[in-house]
Amino acid sequence: MKKHNFYAGPSILSQFTIENTAKAVLDFNGSGLSILEISHRSKEFIAVTEEAIALFKELLHIPEGYSVLFLQGGASMQFMQVPYNLLNKKAGYLDTGMWASKAIKEAKLFGEVVTVASSKDRNYAYIPKGFAVPADIDYLHVTTNNTIFGTELKEDLNVSVPLVADMSSDIFSRPIDVSKYALIYGGAQKNLAPAGLTFVIVKNDILGKVDRPIPSMMSYQIHIDNETMYNTPPCIAIYSALQTLKWYKEQGGVEGMHKVNVKKADLLYGEIERNKMFKGTVEKAEDRSIMNVCFVMNDDFKDKEEEFNKFASAQGMIGLKGHRSVGGFRASIYNAMPLESVQALVDCMKEFESKA
Ligand SMILES: *Cc1c(COP(=O)(O)O)cnc(C)c1O
Repeated sequence: MKKHNFYAGPSILSQFTIENTAKAVLDFNGSGLSILEISHRSKEFIAVTEEAIALFKELLHIPEGYSVLFLQGGASMQFMQVPYNLLNKKAGYLDTGMWASKAIKEAKLFGEVVTVASSKDRNYAYIPKGFAVPADIDYLHVTTNNTIFGTELKEDLNVSVPLVADMSSDIFSRPIDVSKYALIYGGAQKNLAPAGLTFVIVKNDILGKVDRPIPSMMSYQIHIDNETMYNTPPCIAIYSALQTLKWYKEQGGVEGMHKVNVKKADLLYGEIERNKMFKGTVEKAEDRSIMNVCFVMNDDFKDKEEEFNKFASAQGMIGLKGHRSVGGFRASIYNAMPLESVQALVDCMKEFESKA
């Protein structure tokens, strides 16, 4: 039976990425060596990294003056690395979910943190708007897509302080104006590559402004100076990322991905609204994520949750269980998920309703 992968992360990758990575594990570009055993300093592998960085810049239309880094430690390490490099006295954070809260907790180790707004009061079911941004903060940190709660900040904010964004779960899903950001980071395992790779896009001239000494591995500047090869990078994950980037280009880039993503999200949210057995958990349509669709059983059908879970699994739907802090279901419909898989889930929801 065909499996439909709705896992939140690690998560679905394009077939193109998986097949090309599998080939390179057996024989990397006809070299007679596996991608698993080739030196990161070999000219063949340096070419992989360079091409991946070039495509990263091309697809996101990254302007001059920015560097792309391939690091490790996940987005969670960026929760520390960002303030280490950028927080001198005070930073602002928008609290839109569990990942944002974790970022806030780490930043507090480095200086004063102002929470500019929070949606915690209603279990993060909305994106706060119209909040004031203090002029004296070193940067404002936002989480553009709240993977757990299914909300998404869809605009690139206009602020007068440097803007930092965790885009772990929506990078490459829609066009963004990189020039509005000082730094963008994320774990690669949601829309790019297998786990083990962290991407960072950093504006070069925001660095060097904090007073504290920075250990080499924590310093963006050191990674920039060493062309993202200060130490051994996760070679196979970078190779996979390159395949995904090539696939994105074939699909019409982020503009092409966005069109399909909106179609997929509209299809699924439309069914959640129509189907009497389910309801969405996000308050307003404008805040609904096009990557992670959260829904629960409607009040009259609360006792059917486990039954739907079993019914959907039996039809090949994998990874639909919602995060424990929201409950119900979460369908992660990342870039690599085809429209047909979303249609299969919608058909499954319809069939479940007709049998109830
Ligand atoms: C998954 C996720 C993280 C955590 O990523 P790790 O790579 O596991 O550290 C952080 N932020 C967001 C928005 C995420 O979706």
